[in-house]
Amino acid sequence: NREIHLASRPTGWPVEDNFRLVKTDVPTPGPGQIVVRNQYISVDPYMRGRMNDVKSYVPPYALDAPLDGAAIGEVVASESAAIAVGATVLHGLGWREYALLDATAARPVDPALAPVSAYLSVLGMTGLTAYAGLLEVAAMKPGETVFVSAAAGAVGSLVGQIAKLKGAGRVVGSAGSPAKVERLRALGFDAAFDYHDGPVRDSLGTAAPDGVDVYFDNVGGDHLEAAISAMNRHGRVAICGMISQYNATEPPAAPRNLALVIGKRLTLRGFLVNDHNDVRDAFVSDVAGWLREGTLSYDETIVDGIENAPAAFLGLLRGDNLGKMLVRV
Ligand code: NDP
Repeated sequence: NREIHLASRPTGWPVEDNFRLVKTDVPTPGPGQIVVRNQYISVDPYMRGRMNDVKSYVPPYALDAPLDGAAIGEVVASESAAIAVGATVLHGLGWREYALLDATAARPVDPALAPVSAYLSVLGMTGLTAYAGLLEVAAMKPGETVFVSAAAGAVGSLVGQIAKLKGAGRVVGSAGSPAKVERLRALGFDAAFDYHDGPVRDSLGTAAPDGVDVYFDNVGGDHLEAAISAMNRHGRVAICGMISQYNATEPPAAPRNLALVIGKRLTLRGFLVNDHNDVRDAFVSDVAGWLREGTLSYDETIVDGIENAPAAFLGLLRGDNLGKMLVRV
């Protein structure tokens, strides 16, 4: 078994030296336990926060211990009556080839219904984040103009498409390269821009000349400031993430225009996907239907080999990914 340990805590941007590849024996299950051979592991932006030794909504990673996170794989040994060898399960012990866990901590999924990687992307936490954030938290209504940042990423690309499928009037996305902008147009976004091409405020003004009703924020900083300026009265902002400041060593300069929230009667609401399991059934039924019809696309960027998991994570922070960044073990 090979697994990735946190060797040191990053300051600012993480580097390969913050991680260590460690060889261990393949574990054997005790009573009630299973061993899973991981097939895909997820690398996610929130993991950057867990590398700092600070109190947050999830505890920090320990030094000199394996990292963890969402993973999917096949059960290769079982001492549990509930889960048999051969089952495919979702669980929380990624960043390693073999995971030992209590059977109660694993969720069996049907590998015949969808490619197994989809359970970590469109059908998983990523998809639910997009769905719940847009429809519950921001309460998007048909006809509205929606703006989403990090729009070519895992969550953002689904937000834009779900907005169109649910009747948004206009959907605008921002992303970090011309190729990503082209991809957004192919996915059905009405307008898209590369945020390197000029101030976000100017690009957004051109892309959404009648203003924005819903902003799905994945980035924070100047994107949030530009959105606040562009918001229409009674607009809603779903604050999903602020990736532009995860590696920052100084507090952010923007947004400097928060006072606009008053006169425009805006709602800015942070959320965590974990609190939205009540919409899971509606989410699965909608998304499964759209996938069957072929009206929803999802991109995945796959990096091979557990030894390359740190590189995949660093690449995710730099924007190397189109859609969900995954490691195939
Ligand atoms: P993505 O697939 O979107 O990957 C991250 C992307 O962020 C990169 O591809 C990069 O794309 C973009 N990015 C990186 N730095 C910057 C920057 N300085 N300015 C603008 N864009 C940047 O990741 P996810 O879809 O998994 O996550 C998206 C956001 O949602 C994150 O902020 C994450 O923390 C949050 N999240 C929150 C959840 C919740 O429960 N609240 C659950 C899941 C995710 P580019 O090339 O366009 O720069």
